[in-house]
Amino acid sequence: MCEGSCLSVAVDTPAHTGIGEPLTYLAGSPLAAGTLVRVPLGRREVTGIVWDAQEAPAVQPTIELKSVLHALESLPPLPERWRELVAFTAAYYQRGIGEVALSVLPPELRKLDDVQVRQRIARLHKALAAAPAPAVAGVAAPESAPLSAAQQQVLDELAQARLQVAAPTVLLHGVTGSGKTEIYLRCAAQALAAGQQALVLVPEINLTPQLEARFAERFAGRHIVAMHSGLTPAQRLRNWLAAHLGLADLVLGTRLAVFASMPRLGLIVVDEEHDASYKQQEGARYSARDLAIYRGKLEGATVLLGSATPSLESWQRALEGRYVKLSLPARIGGGALPAVRLVDMTQQPRVKGGAAISPPLVEALNRRIACGEQSLVFLNRRGYAPVLHCGDCGWKSACAHCSAWRVFHKLDRTLRCHHCGFTERVPRACPDCGNLDIAPMGRGTERLEEQLADLLKRADGTPARIARIDADSTRAKGSLEAQLGAVHAGDVDVLVGTQMITKGHDFRRITLVAAVNPDTSLFSSDFRAPERLFALLMQAGGRAGRDAAQAARSEMWVQTWHPQHPLYAALRRHDFEAFASAQLDERRMASLPPFSHLALLRAEARTAEAARGFLQLAVHIAQPEAEAAGITLYHPVPTPIARVADVERMQLLVESSSRQAMQHFLAQWLPRLHGVRQTLTGEARILRWAVDVDPLAI
Ligand code: ADP
Ligand code: ZN
Ligand code: ZN
Repeated sequence: MCEGSCLSVAVDTPAHTGIGEPLTYLAGSPLAAGTLVRVPLGRREVTGIVWDAQEAPAVQPTIELKSVLHALESLPPLPERWRELVAFTAAYYQRGIGEVALSVLPPELRKLDDVQVRQRIARLHKALAAAPAPAVAGVAAPESAPLSAAQQQVLDELAQARLQVAAPTVLLHGVTGSGKTEIYLRCAAQALAAGQQALVLVPEINLTPQLEARFAERFAGRHIVAMHSGLTPAQRLRNWLAAHLGLADLVLGTRLAVFASMPRLGLIVVDEEHDASYKQQEGARYSARDLAIYRGKLEGATVLLGSATPSLESWQRALEGRYVKLSLPARIGGGALPAVRLVDMTQQPRVKGGAAISPPLVEALNRRIACGEQSLVFLNRRGYAPVLHCGDCGWKSACAHCSAWRVFHKLDRTLRCHHCGFTERVPRACPDCGNLDIAPMGRGTERLEEQLADLLKRADGTPARIARIDADSTRAKGSLEAQLGAVHAGDVDVLVGTQMITKGHDFRRITLVAAVNPDTSLFSSDFRAPERLFALLMQAGGRAGRDAAQAARSEMWVQTWHPQHPLYAALRRHDFEAFASAQLDERRMASLPPFSHLALLRAEARTAEAARGFLQLAVHIAQPEAEAAGITLYHPVPTPIARVADVERMQLLVESSSRQAMQHFLAQWLPRLHGVRQTLTGEARILRWAVDVDPLAI
């Protein structure tokens, strides 16, 4: 029996214990559910959240209960709906409640005691009181331009939809530059005017300072906070507190912001809803987009998903009428989308050392430079060349620790593995045969930059001004901003980069966009590769001709060895609907998402045999139940890059036509896998496993 009062407290229990449920503790006085506490766990003292205050759980008399050490009572308890969201996330993605709850709170909260929290809150109130008061009470000041007819129609239809369902999920399909952001702003203004808070999710906040600026400008005087991994721990805590206390009207953030505690949440916007960055790739592998939809239902908040190329999951649901489908079919100001030109590379002269930039593309780039216009050339591969190669003996720059090549970086003359980080100086001669003539094969952005610098000239004969933006060139703090600034200021003729430069940026002077070598995704084993490629190319094309005056002349060039491919045919017509319909037909026939539900069980071990052995056992113990529940368990296979940092990785695909059946099966099966591991001996036991529900890449 409990003396004093019994509480269940969610704590972050290590995954290998298999304990995901809250634990029972004693408290001297009652504490409200949602209160943060410090409790002993093993020999440590950890932060936990009071999960259930009233319900006294069944306590085994043999266990001596430990007591809560300290409660952060100055912090208002985390609301019940927030706890429901966390509990749902833990159950759906098969993780511990405490693990999820604590991983989405600002880490700083774990370090503070009640007095310190009270001080932080007082400081926040003081800072806000000192800030200038809102210019006008109510909705924000500058409403830039009158809405276009299409925008007005979208807002009308949205208002109509809200008469039928209090908090609809809306899919806004609008081509790039069609004014989706204006719709977000108007919806946010409506929410704020109604005394609600709004949450705006973006895929990569570092790449979209413009969006922040637009919200800040529109909502001058309102309290807007950012929430993303680029903040310092102190900023993150401050902004989180502002949202939790209801002081912030608007939260703008990346995927982790979907868990922001917001007591008056009325609207959730998910911009570029198809973007893969919404999926967390470690720990609880949640989809912030999917959780946003769940949270909207929970909180009675409207959820607005926006994209020029919606995910096929969202598109299918909109077609089925489960989401309200709204569209902005044209660019603002009537600007045309760029004309798509396919360069048939099979007809171009072959060049030693990999795919070249075709002569017609060089000519087109030079013409743009001569007119003082900018171009954007992208290639999804950083470094100079993806591999170094010896023509005499066939040596290649393999990574000693991964099943991957090490990439040649010419600027610092290194061979670098992009998977494990293993880096060495480039050898003078072939390590196997001593041949001095080892050569780069293929190309990355560094080499592309070098070649373009050779080929492109300004009208006065001086070399073209080329800037490169990729993960290497933007490592130093502030360098991305500086380079983007140079592009916006017109100090750059050609911008070269990885897909980093294809997203979101509102470049006004770019009139030509070129994809140098996009074919690699056409024949990938991942069924989502075409969807991703199409979205990437549409997005990239959207960077051209954003200034309506130039739009008619804007072009998107695609170099391809497969000009007849239906994906490119749809791209030429900017026809997302045709592309989606063809893809959905294929998915339906093959029983792939959105027509089925997938999970991946991944195992990592020193040897492939150990990883495979574990997965085979996992299949073995579950086969009868799986068959009875209509669940398909596939054979374990190596992951696309099987070995990383000397660890072998295997995966097992689980498929079901029913989400409930899948959930039920996983919840029964996964806890048993801790036991399976215990039965293994020696080397075979040294392994890690994890499940990825609704995996994005397989
Ligand atoms: P999207 O988010 O769909 O790519 P944006 O919202 O960024 O499109 O709009 C593209 C451009 O059109 C922006 O420069 C924006 O300021 C402008 N714009 C949006 N709505 C209007 C409008 N009603 N009238 C004039 N310009 C607009
Ligand atoms: Zn050699
Ligand atoms: Zn490596």
